[in-house]
Amino acid sequence: MDFSKYSILVVDDQTGVRRLLQETFREEGYNVDTAKEGAEALVKIKESPPSLVLLDMKMPGMNGLETLHQIIKDNPAQAVIMMTAYEELEVVQEARKLGVKDYITKPFDLNYLKELIKSILCKTPKG
Ligand SMILES: [Mg+2]
Repeated sequence: MDFSKYSILVVDDQTGVRRLLQETFREEGYNVDTAKEGAEALVKIKESPPSLVLLDMKMPGMNGLETLHQIIKDNPAQAVIMMTAYEELEVVQEARKLGVKDYITKPFDLNYLKELIKSILCKTPKG
């Protein structure tokens, strides 16, 4: 499959996580950009809305849920997958209410994440 028409924005405060996900999904053929915090992510999403946002929950400053609120407010159709450090049920429920496509818990299985992203993007009408 040709994934080059899809773009993914990885939002995580941890450099290692950003690098891992960027390398993994670039190898798959996606266009990948990163942001290390919520405010930076919002600027990038506004400039160029990605096909999918991978959004960390626990970040200093604007946390994942606050960032998500703003993303959805600006564009209710934006595809987002939340990344949580462990099962944070209340946060996950809140994120679900806001229309988050899915969530994964860290440490995550990269193959599972690849399949999840593929299934979400192939269901999304707009590339
Ligand atoms: Mg974090």
